[in-house]
Amino acid sequence: MGNILVVEDEPAIAAAVAARLESEGHLVTVCHDGAEAVERCRELEPDLVVLDLLLPSLDGLEVCRRIQAERRVPVVMLTARDDETDMLIGFAVGADDYLTKPFSPRELVARVGAVLRRVADGPPHASEPDHRLGAIEIWRASRRIRVGDHDVHLTPTEFDLLAQLAAAAPTVLTREQLLVAVWGYRDGSGARTVDSHVRAVRRKLGDGVIRTVHGVGYGIGDI
Ligand code: CA
Repeated sequence: MGNILVVEDEPAIAAAVAARLESEGHLVTVCHDGAEAVERCRELEPDLVVLDLLLPSLDGLEVCRRIQAERRVPVVMLTARDDETDMLIGFAVGADDYLTKPFSPRELVARVGAVLRRVADGPPHASEPDHRLGAIEIWRASRRIRVGDHDVHLTPTEFDLLAQLAAAAPTVLTREQLLVAVWGYRDGSGARTVDSHVRAVRRKLGDGVIRTVHGVGYGIGDI
């Protein structure tokens, strides 16, 4: 259960999504406009945002950037077409998951539940990091990452991806293994989602942290 902000300008979709999430026990706030979404996010500090891409005043892409800049919050992005989803994945915008319309409310609820489970807070961080990758230190329980003496904010999914790779190192993981371990997908779809999140991690932590092993997948360290 979580406190969820639904940002969707089509009233029928917004109402259906909100009703389904509420029936699962979530506390839901709906807004219909991008600029309002940024404001509401600041006030409510939701646990997760369901964010439509095409919105009045500010599009979902810009809303995602602004809310993530202020506070790390998981985002499930809604798009009208598959090619929009492709574009977002290409841009590595920092959403945790994507759904193309039309989607079933059941699927949305499943995705939201999966993201919330992934980000459930652990205990405060221990003094010693669980992993050291050069200058990068990772505490798994508190989901904290430091590079040198400053914290770096990864989205929950980016963190899980990096933590899985760090735990497996020096073993290389395939995209399919990562999809199962990080996203919980077992049907083998979504390889590009992995690539997108790897790009996002590299943008924040540098190109050297995750290595591409062509024809296999991704790994960390000297492979
Ligand atoms: Ca829309």
